[in-house]
Amino acid sequence: MIDPIAPVVGWTCPFCALLCDEFELAQGAALELRGSDCPRARAALAAHRPVGAAAGASVDAAPASIDAAVAAAAQRLARWQRPVFGGLDTDLEGARALHRLAVMTGAICDTVDGDALFHGLRALQDRGQASTTLGEVRSRADLLVCVGTRAIERHPEFFRRCGLGQAGSACSELVFLGVAPPPGIPAGVAVRALPGSGDLFADVQQLAALLAPRGLAGADPELAALAQRLRAARYSVLVWEGATLPAHGALVVEALQRIAASLNATSRAGTLALAGSPGPSGVNHVLTWRSGLPLRTRAAPEGPEHDPVRFAGARMLAERAADGLLWISSFDAARLPPTDALDSIVLGPPSMAPALARAGRGPGCVFVPVATPGVNADGHLLRTDGGIVVPVTRARDDGLAGVADVLHRLADLLGPSP
Ligand code: SF4
Repeated sequence: MIDPIAPVVGWTCPFCALLCDEFELAQGAALELRGSDCPRARAALAAHRPVGAAAGASVDAAPASIDAAVAAAAQRLARWQRPVFGGLDTDLEGARALHRLAVMTGAICDTVDGDALFHGLRALQDRGQASTTLGEVRSRADLLVCVGTRAIERHPEFFRRCGLGQAGSACSELVFLGVAPPPGIPAGVAVRALPGSGDLFADVQQLAALLAPRGLAGADPELAALAQRLRAARYSVLVWEGATLPAHGALVVEALQRIAASLNATSRAGTLALAGSPGPSGVNHVLTWRSGLPLRTRAAPEGPEHDPVRFAGARMLAERAADGLLWISSFDAARLPPTDALDSIVLGPPSMAPALARAGRGPGCVFVPVATPGVNADGHLLRTDGGIVVPVTRARDDGLAGVADVLHRLADLLGPSP
């Protein structure tokens, strides 16, 4: 039984992959964050206000019951020959149900709306990685280098989570490479900005060469000074964000892994990826645990087939290589499917319904409202530092089914699992 008045102490925020768990959530007519001004969380909570009857299920823009919408969605899934499952912003239970449905339908799973996740995955596949955790950063890292990212734009509490400038934290020095520092960095923190050459890949390659045993003559003096500082640090961390990397960002991530490997020969170093939303990375982990292969894999009864280029979801949609899109965005009501050029099934918070209508996305679309883990559903999410599964609990009960429930219903309607 949920007390509708008592604030949720130590609420875990589900709206970015940091999964902050030190704030309170006040419950009233609206849910309100206490203890943080995080604009991302505040905007997301405002978007999760109850939106009334207009936010129900729909089929081709016509209001429908949940049962009718799920039945219509099952009919479309059964018809599609080559579906893509995209968005993938769900919790781990939703990811398990997604994998079951993907195997039944031969779907290809990819985030679709960006290559951000694959910059890190391609580098991991090719070279491996030396990553660190938020706890390690807070307790041990004396130097943070933010590479091509201002970090707090999409993860507003990141520096607080690192303990930057706080008593008892080792974290006291910050470098930005290729970007200007953001405002609001705590006083007492040494901040340095290196504009770089404008080509992030060239800069990190140069830095990697400077730190390699043979070194590099004639390097940019600022990069050479950064290499010296990295060598002198007790524990340095290279922070990167898939969403801010250029095309072929995997090459940047590979260079960062080489830098960490060089530094680990004499001191301690690690990389930390800022993942944005917690869903896609968790789905990728679940698919990998279950099938041995990551996203961009065609799940099929005869066995999975992985192709990180051919099965890129955005490419498949652009080339009309898919005939249907199942789109899941359980946290962000504004994250609509990237195309209306093919039939779609959309699972999102109730407030996504008016957004779909405003965007003219009704025809060809089945919309099923779903609960949001951490707001009106319990669940488990994967934190940005990977491998750390965090439980989230509902703050109110809106009587909505979760993504996993809807996907299992769809699978049951399609017939027995293979
Ligand atoms: S930084 Fe992310 S997890 Fe933390 S409060 Fe803001 S949106 Fe939530």
